[in-house]
This record gives sequence, structure tokens and C-alpha cells, in this order.
Amino acid sequence: MPPIQLYNTRSRSLETFVPLHAPNVTLYHCGPTVYGYAHIGNMRAYVFADTLRRMLEWNGFKTTQVINITDVGHLVSDGDEGEDKIDVGAKREGISIEEVITRYTNAFLSDIDSLNIKRAHYFPRASKHIAEQIALIADLESKGYTYKTSDGVYFDTAKFSHYGDFAHIDVSGLSGGERVELGEKRSITDFALWKFHSGQGIRAQEWDSPWGRGFPGWHIECSAMAMKYLGQTLDIHTGGVDHIPVHHTNEIAQSECSTGKTFARFWMHTAFMNVDGQKMSKSLGNTYRVGELSAHGISPMGYRYWLLTSHYRTQANFTFDAVLGAQKAYDRLRKEIATLPAGNHTPNEQALLRAAKLINNDLNTSRVIALIHDLLIDTTVHATELRATIGAIDRLLGLELLSWKEERIVASKDVELLLEKRLQARNAKDWAESDRIRNELLSAHNILVKDTPSGQEISRA
Ligand code: AMP
Ligand code: ZN
Repeated sequence: MPPIQLYNTRSRSLETFVPLHAPNVTLYHCGPTVYGYAHIGNMRAYVFADTLRRMLEWNGFKTTQVINITDVGHLVSDGDEGEDKIDVGAKREGISIEEVITRYTNAFLSDIDSLNIKRAHYFPRASKHIAEQIALIADLESKGYTYKTSDGVYFDTAKFSHYGDFAHIDVSGLSGGERVELGEKRSITDFALWKFHSGQGIRAQEWDSPWGRGFPGWHIECSAMAMKYLGQTLDIHTGGVDHIPVHHTNEIAQSECSTGKTFARFWMHTAFMNVDGQKMSKSLGNTYRVGELSAHGISPMGYRYWLLTSHYRTQANFTFDAVLGAQKAYDRLRKEIATLPAGNHTPNEQALLRAAKLINNDLNTSRVIALIHDLLIDTTVHATELRATIGAIDRLLGLELLSWKEERIVASKDVELLLEKRLQARNAKDWAESDRIRNELLSAHNILVKDTPSGQEISRA
């Protein structure tokens, strides 16, 4: 196998990856805050994590993978202020904290299943690991890295001389700006490890601790749970690029000050996905849950295919046209593969080596997809080897390329309305109107309609 080269955010360069304890590889991925549905942008981070795992397993390694479930401590400001996001979710929906957590954890798991993302070995919940977090904070306190204010226990970032290294932050150049409330903190980069009961109303989730009643800060959960399940030094830690300057910088500070060891040997980050050139956000109304794409003719697996056609470190711009184009290419590819002869079960070694070179080069998934297209017209690969070869390469991509069946399209409200109007036109024998609805209106939604004895049947155009 060619060596594995991965881009390490820590060194800002490609490095050869060799596990600390081969054949085992430990992977930690920052997981969802379960106060609402995860959107298709979040899913990019998990499809990436899944591809990383598949690549490592393809190379013969045994992975142990953790995705945490953030169910306490993530405040609305993303800093140390404001309400807990989970409390906000419970109030919004008029249900209990536990119900919010269960509802959105299950939704997350069903979304990742629909994208054929392998389930991680552990999905630890922050609220079930309070003792581990308290132990880590107590250890940092005993080593002199913390101080108390009237509202919590804070990490003193000035005590960690490498604090700014990871994100290339010039800490000395930072000062309390208008938007950042310094309060009693010694430095704006200091962050809460434990927040005290505020006395203003009851927080739904609080625990006793050596510092009194309260709840953990957001960052400490990842360090505590990563080290519990994977040991003090992880092979690879991932997240979205937004985590570099604060969350991951803080994870490194608290973990390395506690253990004196490197926390994660490789840090890998997914670039953001934008929608029509804009940030995805609830206020812009452009956040979609993966299942919602089906009303636009895009299946979760079509979306996965589209994600894999771009490199995880380049920003991706979601447009319905682009993703529908990918969906069609994906469908065509599987249809074509379905026509290949059953053949023998031995993959073509040369083709596998080509795939390994591409994927081991910092997960070049788009080139692996291109390779599969190339193989279909490559005369040096015998037709009888093709199915087995593509099947073997597909274990890297997780695209289920060998299984083709026409997917049922779920009609959106608009499409349902048009179908209803077309039916009325047909009943009135207004064939011109019926054709206009089919040719102009439904085709604009990329929907083909066929009249069958059991009614109008739709498929993707
Ligand atoms: P959150 O639930 O907000 O903590 O985010 C879960 C994961 O999704 C994190 O790794 C984020 O960095 C990542 N993420 C959030 N928004 C996007 C986006 N638009 N594109 C790609 N990744 C994202
Ligand atoms: Zn994290």
C-alpha cells in the first residue's frame, strides 16, 4: 500500500500517517449539539469522518471511533454566556430536556444512517460523563492552571505558553473588544471549565462539584470523553474549520496541560459548505435536513455522492442544480454498473493500487470517483473483473455502487399541487393544459410524469 499522507492542521502540511499503536487507530470527531436537527452542512463533517475511517480500514487498520453527543454546556453565544442550547430547545418545543436530547440524537443517527455513514463505536453523551469532566478540572486546578471568578472556574490561558500556536493566534495582540465581554476573566482567551449555579432561575441540568452546584463548560467534555474512550493521545481528531480558533485550541490547552502529552497527533478539519454562496443559517432559511432534499429530487446517497466529488478541504457551494446534476450522474453510474456481467470475484490489482494512491493522498475522493468512471471504459481491465473491482473500491466511498434500484421519489408540496392540477385537466380532457403542466411546470422541478393504469407515476428527470 502507498503511504498515507494526511493534511495536519497542526503543522499546516501533509504528513505521513502512521498510527501510534498499529494496527489500531483512534479517531475522535466533535459531534452534534442535540437541540435541533443537524443540517446538510453538518453532515459534510460526518461524511468526511466516515471516509477517513473507511480509508484507514481499507489500509488494514482497526479503527475505534468516537462521536460525542453534546447535550449540556454548549451555550447560545458559543462562548461562556447565555442559555444552554438544550434548554432553549426544550422551551421551544414544550418538552423535557431528556425528550429533546432523545429526539435529536435519534434524528441525528437516522440522518447519518441514511447517508450510509458507519456508526461510530461510541456516541458518549456529555451529561453522562460529568464525573470524568470534574476529575479533569480538578487535575488542572491541582496543577495551577485554573482560577475562580464569581460565576465559574476558568482555564488560565496565560499559563500555557503554546496556547496560540494551533490557530496561529497572536495572544498578546488580543484585547477585550466591544463584542467580547471580559467580565472577571483575566484574558479574553480564558474559558469556563465549570459554571456556577447563577441563582437566576433554575437551570435544568446541574450537578454538585467540588466548586459547588453548576455545569461543565462546552470544551471540557470533548477532552474528558476522548481520553476516557481513546487514551491520552489520540491518533486523529476532526471537526469543522470553525472549531480551530476556539474549541480545538481549548481542547489542546486543557488536555495537554493535564497530561503533559500530545493530545491528538493529527488534527483534520472540513471546510464549510455554503448554500448559493451564503452561509447556511436558520435566519436565512437555507438550512436543510438531509431527508428534506428528497422533495427536490435528491436522495441522501445522491447528496453523499455530490459531497465526495469535492475535496474536504475546499469549500463546497450547495446549489440545487449542482446537486441534482450529481444525483443524475450517480444514478447513471449505478445503472451502468448494474449491466456489467457478474464475472469473477477477484478485483484487478492494478486498479486497486490506483485507488489506494488517490485515497491515501489526503482522501482524494473526487479522483477515486473519476477512476471508477475511467474503469468502465478502460480496455485493460477485463469486463469480468469490473464488478468485483468497483465493489472493492466502493468500500472506500460507501456509495453502494453495486446496488441499483429505482428510488421512489417523494413529491414536494408544489409537485403534488401540479399533479393534482394535471389530473383535473386530464379529467376535463384539456390535453393542452395537461401537457403544459408536464412539459413546462413539472420538468422545471426535474420531475418526469408517466400515466399508468394506477395513476400518474413520477420519476426524476
Ligand atoms: P455543531 O452541531 O454546530 O457543533 O456542528 C457539528 C459539526 O458540523 C461541527 O464539526 C461543525 O464544524 C460542522 N459544521 C457546522 N456547519 C457546517 C457547514 N456549513 N459546513 C460544514 N461543516 C459544518
Ligand atoms: Zn469537540
